[in-house]
Amino acid sequence: GRNFEMLLAKADVAMSVARQQGGNRLLVYDDAYGEQLRGDFELQSALATVLDRNELVLHYQPIIDTRYNRVVGVEALMRWMRGSQMLSPGKFIPLAEDSGLDFRMGEWAISEALQQLRRWQLAGVPIPGVSVNVSVRHLRQPTLLRAAQQALEATEMPASALTLELTEIDVMRDIENVLPTLWELKKAGIRIALDDFGSGFSSVSYLTRMPVDTLKIDRVFVSELENDIGQLKVVRSIIALAGALDLQIIGEGVERTEEMHMLQKLGCQDLQGYLFSKPMTAAQLERWMTENHIMPGRGWPGEGTTAGS
Ligand code: C2E
Ligand code: CA
Ligand code: CA
Repeated sequence: GRNFEMLLAKADVAMSVARQQGGNRLLVYDDAYGEQLRGDFELQSALATVLDRNELVLHYQPIIDTRYNRVVGVEALMRWMRGSQMLSPGKFIPLAEDSGLDFRMGEWAISEALQQLRRWQLAGVPIPGVSVNVSVRHLRQPTLLRAAQQALEATEMPASALTLELTEIDVMRDIENVLPTLWELKKAGIRIALDDFGSGFSSVSYLTRMPVDTLKIDRVFVSELENDIGQLKVVRSIIALAGALDLQIIGEGVERTEEMHMLQKLGCQDLQGYLFSKPMTAAQLERWMTENHIMPGRGWPGEGTTAGS
């Protein structure tokens, strides 16, 4: 910068870009960042009306109990259909958070996922439940629980058919504030999964006090299972921990048969990843289930069979 104002403006640009890349990092300003920020600004203005224009869709990735070839649930993953472009959440969720739109989008996702689940149930498609990703920031809003309960009522789905996925690291960072809300969700019958589990430094004593139903092993551990004995030990202890606490355990990001076999050998049977299927539209998922001879599942929650594991 030739003067103080310019220097400060460029530092500010570099800081915004660093924040978008996940924060907690050092970045030296580059002219290209200015360009990128202008692009983001355009996206952000378009994002403001994304819900009114019906441009958000949910894709679904199955979670499979590999012992019986059953779908034990699906994870809803948000996509933004912008003209012919499909944007992933990594591109627009941070922008939505900046402009405070993420709460409305998250509540839309819960409602949309439950409506889809309802349609599947009526059509006899054996999918017992749906998981929706929510941020811990959103969890602290009183509107979240209310929105979830309204969506459950409107679709007449049992609360246990809905799982909210929260990343372990965000939960742990704010655990004392988050705990009461988790218990409220639990009381309402909604299930909770800790996402990207393994790198968030959960203390075991908190885990025993937390109304969590599921741990999802972070993809990082899964992909390094074979080559890194250290990672193998981590995964083995996570699985043992889940067993001891009677929690469901899901291995995610499974891309190769070897990874599947290792996880199964370690005692993790519920798996999710490209090996089985990428996230896809509801219609594609139905076709995929027929083509892959997916067995009728553990039944709909509340139908006499138990959901989850
Ligand atoms: P996540 O919750 O950990 O979701 C898993 C991500 O890994 C998804 O990326 C999924 O497409 C991808 N994935 C699944 N299987 C594999 C695999 O075998 N290999 C590899 N390399 N990747 C795999 P996606 O859809 O781009 O979502 C990224 C993140 O964005 C999600 O991570 C989640 O944290 C967030 N996200 C997605 N949808 C929502 C949403 O509706 N609300 C909020 N707040 N966040 C969302
Ligand atoms: Ca997730
Ligand atoms: Ca994850």
